[in-house]
Amino acid sequence: MKKIITIGEIVVEIMAVETGNGFLSAISLIGPFASGAPAIFIDQAAKLGQPCGIVSAVGNDDFGVLNVERLRNDGADVSAIAVHPTAATGSAFVRYRQDGNRDFIFNIKHSACSAIGLTPQAEALVETADHLHIMGSALFSDGIVAAIHEATRRIKAKGGTISFDPNIRKEMLELPGMREALGHALENTDLFMPSGAEIFLFTQATEEKAAVAELLARGIKAVVIKRGAEGASYFDASGETIAPAFKVEEVDPTGAGDSFGAAFVTCWLRGMAADKALVIANATGARAVGVKGPMEGTSSMAEIEAFLAARNLSGVSS
Ligand code: ATP
Ligand code: MG
Repeated sequence: MKKIITIGEIVVEIMAVETGNGFLSAISLIGPFASGAPAIFIDQAAKLGQPCGIVSAVGNDDFGVLNVERLRNDGADVSAIAVHPTAATGSAFVRYRQDGNRDFIFNIKHSACSAIGLTPQAEALVETADHLHIMGSALFSDGIVAAIHEATRRIKAKGGTISFDPNIRKEMLELPGMREALGHALENTDLFMPSGAEIFLFTQATEEKAAVAELLARGIKAVVIKRGAEGASYFDASGETIAPAFKVEEVDPTGAGDSFGAAFVTCWLRGMAADKALVIANATGARAVGVKGPMEGTSSMAEIEAFLAARNLSGVSS
């Protein structure tokens, strides 16, 4: 089986219990939860039984242990997660507003995550990889950008593949070097996985079909557009495959895109047809939104099969 790796942040997330605006007075919080978009992605791939690992860094603290043990127990290769001697594990405080928007306080760039780079352990992990998943949210430090460039080069040189989820908030786009780093990722991408309007981040076209055509003409093999509660679409040279979302109650949307992405990439690397891969990825995203906590809704293949069987869709994964 093909081995997937990713490079980027591991953090704990601490969530406000009640909706409201920000953190300006004492409120009830719940956490720490294991988190970080690349970490959620790799945890989901591991749970599906795909060989996988992450290049990252945590502090020498309980938040780090919580994350590393979680990933290890779910089956990910944690050999390239460095433990920073002095800096703390990254963290994110999040509070949902009434309208579904989120307020965040991040401590990532200056946390142990600042040490993420191509360590000897990371080089050894890259050596074993067939596929690199690039998460746009991870491109916040020069060390990570350089590590991703080098891993991209090495993995492509041995015939491996790259997937890319821009996963970027507007405020991050204008960070120094961000546009260049995103552009480099796109140039090397085989499978591009934007959500909604992110498809237009890199195109002249302002209409979806034209934007997809423009990206495919640049050499990207396939594009998957995530559409939240509307489901997802897959595009390649032969056209579009549409798959509606499953009807579920949305408890916490954080992590849905990362889980969906890992499920789709896993199925794609296993050679599954796009329509089936979309059904499995939609089921994985639907299960993720049904659970509070960013990584708490990741699924095993048995859980996905049970979810599908309950909707008379047995046998999709075989
Ligand atoms: P993230 O906030 O994690 O970055 P994203 O924008 O990358 O999310 P979404 O499109 O929100 O990704 O969600 C990914 C997938 O999860 C969707 O394509 C869909 O399959 C599933 N999903 C998301 N929200 C819902 C929902 N409310 N009901 C059912 N399925 C959902
Ligand atoms: Mg996303």
